[in-house]
Amino acid sequence: MPVYEYICGKCGHEFEKLVFGEQTIHCPECESAEVKKKFSVFGMSGTEHQTSSGCSSCSSGSCSSCK
Ligand SMILES: [Zn+2]
Repeated sequence: MPVYEYICGKCGHEFEKLVFGEQTIHCPECESAEVKKKFSVFGMSGTEHQTSSGCSSCSSGSCSSCK
């Protein structure tokens, strides 16, 4: 499920929140709704946990251009 990272536009507090559908996000510190979404990650912190094993143009992962 999506976890979004927000930063408060009022007090600058940064926080993460699970969001289900359309939902108004409020800063947990100052209750402001002036929060900005920074980026989203799915589940665990994940830039290095990607499924790609080297080849982005085929599904086998073992073509001649993979390595
Ligand atoms: Zn705030």
